[in-house]
Amino acid sequence: MTDKKPNVWDMTLERLDSTMDLLNLTPGIRKYLRQPRKILEVAVTVRMDNSDIDIFTGYRIQHNTNRGPGKGGIRYHPDVTRDEIKALALLMTLKCTVVGILFGGAKGGIAVDPKKLSMRELENMTRRYTFEIINNIGPEKDIPAPDVGTNSQVMAWIMDTFSIDKGHAVPGVVTGKPLELGGSLGREYATSLGCIYIILSTLKVKEIDNVGLSVAVQGFGNVGYHSARILHDLGFKIIAVSDVDGAIFNKNGLDPYKVAEHNDKTGSVKGYSEGEDIERDSLLTLDCDILIPAALENQIKRSNASDIKAKIVAEAANAPTTPKAEKILLDNNVFIIPDTLCNAGGVTVSYFEWVQGNLSYFWSEREVKLKLRDIMDKAFSEVHKVATERKVDMRTAAGLLAVKRVARAIKLRGIYP
Ligand code: NAD
Repeated sequence: MTDKKPNVWDMTLERLDSTMDLLNLTPGIRKYLRQPRKILEVAVTVRMDNSDIDIFTGYRIQHNTNRGPGKGGIRYHPDVTRDEIKALALLMTLKCTVVGILFGGAKGGIAVDPKKLSMRELENMTRRYTFEIINNIGPEKDIPAPDVGTNSQVMAWIMDTFSIDKGHAVPGVVTGKPLELGGSLGREYATSLGCIYIILSTLKVKEIDNVGLSVAVQGFGNVGYHSARILHDLGFKIIAVSDVDGAIFNKNGLDPYKVAEHNDKTGSVKGYSEGEDIERDSLLTLDCDILIPAALENQIKRSNASDIKAKIVAEAANAPTTPKAEKILLDNNVFIIPDTLCNAGGVTVSYFEWVQGNLSYFWSEREVKLKLRDIMDKAFSEVHKVATERKVDMRTAAGLLAVKRVARAIKLRGIYP
């Protein structure tokens, strides 16, 4: 069976609509939530190393800012589109709300393959993009963070460009900064640690002993690597990992630290000596207990959903499961931990970074982890309670919780003028 490439904005709206159908919302509030507040599309003009100029299309989209400043990552990837960024911004609104953080939802990105740029071109592009969106971001307006294809160095360039424009250092304009510039301890692996806390809560409510459970992780970037590493340290067996170029498998378990060394040397997980190379997408349908998609959208789709053998799918990536695939998984009793809950650890520690920066008072790594655990545990039990009481799946439950809170914020603030 083949899949037509699904439009992630349509899919996200479809899910929002079905959540809103279960709530008693006015038609006006429904319209409000379906429409991003602000869409910025910019031409990012860059002088390339060969002296010629190139132009890349960039976006910054705020979906909703009723509960606080916009918050969301910046993605550098060739497949970035306006619809993708709109969808990811909407998911950020829901995610911040699910974990009870007073931020709105935003997202940005540039349609570019960052691997094809030199370091100087990457810096020039980042600074020009920052300049183009400079009036729309800021510590009280909208705060970018890393996402696919961006990292703490990119955040440092954004902070510097913004600060030069304002005439003084403004560390609060981004999160995911290097520690030396006011980053938070624990931010680098926060998305993964949050995801692991949620997996542990899931195992607890399902009364599953976690000793030796097998895990397959799709994607070996920031989120995939740290998820594999933390689970390995906790005694889980990482039987497979993948990246855009391929996948590796070892039924007795891979050592993510050694895979990372191999990846650093060769640029891919492929060819790792203590694992067997397998076809990239076959990782998704391996016989394992937990599947962690930690790459991109639309990976679990109608064509492969019925072959998925994992009993738990933990969505570390954003929107990795299409609605059609989700239906198949739910019919097969697969427990899906939705992205808005599963990967919310990243934005939670981003919030901690913003708070620490505002106070100029920085916490220990232990404090960050404990506070993250409190928030993730609370969010899990609130979502699970709604799921149990209303007899709905976890995504619907997270959506109900989030949409209700955002709708209330819209109502309380009222409409200007
Ligand atoms: P990254 O760029 O560090 O890593 C992405 C990884 O996915 C790379 O290893 C890449 O090779 C791999 N990949 C790409 N296409 C693939 C494919 N078809 N099959 C297998 N692997 C593939 O990005 P990241 O920051 O780790 O983000 C991963 C996901 O997590 C994204 O969906 C992102 O939106 C989400 N997320 C990230 C954060 C964060 O803090 N970085 C927070 C929340 C959600």
